[in-house]
Amino acid sequence: MNILIFGPNGSGKGTQGTIIQKKFGVPHIETGVIFRENISKGTELGKKAKGYIDRGELVPDDITIPMILNRLKEADCAKGWLLDGFPRNLAQAEALWNALQEEKMQLDYVIEIVLDRDTSKKRIMGRRLCATDNNHPNNIYIDAIKPVEKEGKLICRVCGCEKLTARADDQDEAAIDKRHNIYYDTKTGTLAAVNYFKQRVKVIEVDGNPSVKEVSESLLKKLV
Ligand code: AMP
Repeated sequence: MNILIFGPNGSGKGTQGTIIQKKFGVPHIETGVIFRENISKGTELGKKAKGYIDRGELVPDDITIPMILNRLKEADCAKGWLLDGFPRNLAQAEALWNALQEEKMQLDYVIEIVLDRDTSKKRIMGRRLCATDNNHPNNIYIDAIKPVEKEGKLICRVCGCEKLTARADDQDEAAIDKRHNIYYDTKTGTLAAVNYFKQRVKVIEVDGNPSVKEVSESLLKKLV
């Protein structure tokens, strides 16, 4: 089972990706995770990629494309893969498509989580971290997981912890805009890659507006 998943930052793509990965038992290959692992291990690849990542730019295609195409040839991918964060532009889409054609491999599902730019941005900026447990979901812009108000203060909706904070990078509007500029670019960016696949295979579109549970239910229904 070979699957691609697209969705802007803030659309819940990572969460849905994990749910899909569990359903099909294929490796979840996240480009961003591979880069971050290489940076923390201090590899040559990590050194090359770091500056681009710190600036919120895409790592150049001549580094990223071979890295991913080689990753797909590793033994754990023999039964399939879920690719997340690649392709992120038109050139990467073409490279992946051509490589799959050459290997006579098919794409079983291409998924697009559709969410408008304003909502995606609000969701990122609305995330709040609970000091007791970072996994307690709190977001001031998502009704289903809004923190609770107590005596004029917002507290964790799961455990009542009074210390809710925002991650600094979630509040960096310029960085969020930069990433969204790449995603929503229909000429050469990620939406151009999505459209490239729409011309070749059936792309499953899922509305990213409802809750995580509703989105995953409607998505899993379409993945039969
Ligand atoms: P992510 O965790 O997916 O948001 O990725 C973090 C960073 O890794 C991005 O901002 C890019 O700098 C880099 N990156 C991730 N995926 C790609 C890709 N397909 N092409 C180029 N750079 C990427």
